[in-house]
Amino acid sequence: MSGKKLKREFSICVEEEDGWEWHVPVNLDATELKSICINWENNLQFGRIIDLDVFDNNHNRISREDLGNTGRTCIVCGDDYLTCRRIGKHSFKEIRSCFDEISREI
Ligand SMILES: [Zn+2]
Repeated sequence: MSGKKLKREFSICVEEEDGWEWHVPVNLDATELKSICINWENNLQFGRIIDLDVFDNNHNRISREDLGNTGRTCIVCGDDYLTCRRIGKHSFKEIRSCFDEISREI
């Protein structure tokens, strides 16, 4: 790991319109951390209903595509998640219903 170390010893929980966000400073290389997060999103039982974003020390978001992965799929229809979100393809009720179904399986 190179570059300056940032001393951040706090985390923040924020309630946003679409749910809770937990902002956690982590002292790991951003691409290494994003790889771990992708693995969790793909393999944990509840991975489909969590969204783990990673930002580097310059506040640049590290995407799945940056690491050679495909984007996430929509939990409602299986299409590209970002497209569904951008065009508002599903109602909140539809999304919540899928979320609840996955939650019950956990
Ligand atoms: Zn969809």
